[in-house]
Amino acid sequence: MEPRRARGLILRLRGLGESDLLVDMFTRELGRVTALAKGGKRSRKRFFGLFLLGHYLDMQLAPPQKGSDLWRLETASLLASHLGLRQDFRRFLAAAPVWELLLRATAAQDPNPLGLDLALTTLARLERAADPPELASGLMIYLARLLVEMGYGLSLGACLICGKPGGQGESMRLSLAGGLVCQACLREINQGGDESCCDARAGLVKGLEAAQSLELAALQRLKFAAGLHRQGLAFLAEFWRKVAGRDLPSLDLAQSLLSNIL
Ligand SMILES: [Zn+2]
Repeated sequence: MEPRRARGLILRLRGLGESDLLVDMFTRELGRVTALAKGGKRSRKRFFGLFLLGHYLDMQLAPPQKGSDLWRLETASLLASHLGLRQDFRRFLAAAPVWELLLRATAAQDPNPLGLDLALTTLARLERAADPPELASGLMIYLARLLVEMGYGLSLGACLICGKPGGQGESMRLSLAGGLVCQACLREINQGGDESCCDARAGLVKGLEAAQSLELAALQRLKFAAGLHRQGLAFLAEFWRKVAGRDLPSLDLAQSLLSNIL
């Protein structure tokens, strides 16, 4: 079979033997794939400087052999390096969940071009971020919007159980069930305790609604007000752990770093 062109974001790099590399990528054309880069670990000529987390590459990939799902990377060139992430460790740590979620929470070979565009615009924002609130806003918007692009969007207009609209004077809660829940429904689903939710502060709900619905270009200007970052990040990180059904160590680390420096 002929090689295919694919443009993809590097999600993970693993050495194989003395000189080869396994490269996990989220590509526009093929979704998430793993490719073998022969000589990728030490080739000075063919792949020099290309294999770093967060790099966006233009590639030729040879399809897997029968019975395998490993592509072979034939040529590659750099489309975007997101270099600014490497100039400040806080930016890099805030960006790591971007590739971690694409690696751990997407199905293999299931293309999602909007999800990829969201990841690329988020990395472009984080690599220029000047302060912790901007890092937190960029990451929160990514976390909220990727839920939509993957079909897990939060229900934010009304109680997701009884449908009572928000903003009617009654205080709603943000629940890990997937969005707003009113107090009456909360008492029913959550008789034991109060483990799974937080106050649905108006600014937070509004910001999350915007993050879930605006055009990607407009998301660049969206910010969460100071005082909403910690709570919003905590909720989104917890919801993502539930959606992914597994540990998300980079997200844990980004959340704890940002909570400490905000
Ligand atoms: Zn309700």
